[in-house]
Amino acid sequence: AKRGAPQSFALYEPGMLDRRRDDDLLGRDLDNAVAGGQLEVRYQPMVDLATGRPIGAEALVRWRHPVRGMVSPLDFIPVAERTGVIAEIGLYVLEQACHQALSWRRASGGDFYVSVNVSPRQLQDPDLVADVLATLDRAGLAPQRLVLEVTESAIVDDQVAIPTLQALRAHGVRVAIDDFGTGYSSLQYLTRLPIDILKIDRSFVADLIGTGHGGAVTEAIIRLAQVLDLGTVAEGIETPAQAAELRRLGCRTGQGYHYAKPLTTADALAYFMTSQAD
Ligand code: C2E
Ligand code: CA
Ligand code: CA
Ligand code: CA
Repeated sequence: AKRGAPQSFALYEPGMLDRRRDDDLLGRDLDNAVAGGQLEVRYQPMVDLATGRPIGAEALVRWRHPVRGMVSPLDFIPVAERTGVIAEIGLYVLEQACHQALSWRRASGGDFYVSVNVSPRQLQDPDLVADVLATLDRAGLAPQRLVLEVTESAIVDDQVAIPTLQALRAHGVRVAIDDFGTGYSSLQYLTRLPIDILKIDRSFVADLIGTGHGGAVTEAIIRLAQVLDLGTVAEGIETPAQAAELRRLGCRTGQGYHYAKPLTTADALAYFMTSQAD
C-alpha cells in the first residue's frame, strides 16, 4: 500500500492501522497545503426560498493534492483537526470568504453574506475572536455579513466555545448550528445557546417527501426555530418538490444542488451578478 493508494483499500476492509498510516501521510502533506497554495474555496449559494434569489453563500474548502488530486474535506478536515493545522486552514478560508463576500457586493450591489464552517478545535482557540474581527476589518466586511457554522456537540456545555460565540455575536457576527437534528439536543439547553440560525441537516431534507420521519422532523425544527426566534436554513435541497415542501412548512432559506453546486470564485461572482440583474 505505497502512498496509501486508495485503490488498495478498496480490496479489503481498511484496517485501523492502514487508515492511521494514511492519515499520517495526509497530515504531513497538509502542513504544506496552505503555504503551497493547494487549498481552494468553493461557494454554494444560499437562496431565499420564496423568490429563489441568492442571499449569501457557504464557503466550502477543497484540497488540490499534488498526487491524489482533489481530496474531500470529509477526508482531510478530521486529520487537520487532529494535527492542529485546522487553525491555519480555518483562517485561510475565512479570509478568502470575507474578500469574496465583499466582491459580490461590490459587483452587484446586493447585500450578500458568507457562511463559514468553524471546527470544534478552532472554537477552543483563545485568539479566535480577535482573529475573526481582524479578518473582517482587513477585508472591510461588516460583521453582520458573516455567519459562522458550528456543530452542536462543539458548543454544548463548553466553557470556552460559548463565551467565544457570545463575544462574536456581540460584534454582530451570526452563529448557525450546522447539521441540526443529528446531534445531542436538549431542547431546554438550546434556548440558552448563543445562536441565530438552525441549519436543518440534509438527511431530513432528503427524506422530506418520502415515507420516513424526515418531514415530521423538519417541521418540528422549523416550529422550534419560530418559537425560539431563530432563522432556518435547509441544506441539501435537490428537487423542486423538496423546495416547495420547505416553503410550505415556513422555511425561509435553502441551499442545495437544485439551486447551485459549490461554485468557483468566478462562477459565484457571475451567479450573484446575474441574479441581481433584473
Ligand atoms: P457541511 O458543512 O454540512 O457542508 C455541506 C456539504 O453538503 C458540502 O459537502 C456540500 O458540497 C454538500 N452539498 C451541498 N448541496 C448538496 C445537495 O444538494 N446534495 C448533496 N448530496 N450534498 C450537497 P463538502 O463540500 O464535501 O463538505 C463536506 C463537509 O466538510 C462540510 O459539511 C463541512 O463539515 C466540512 N467542511 C467543508 N469546508 C470546511 C471548512 O472550510 N472548514 C471546516 N471546519 N469544515 C469544512
Ligand atoms: Ca456547513
Ligand atoms: Ca451541514
Ligand atoms: Ca453535513
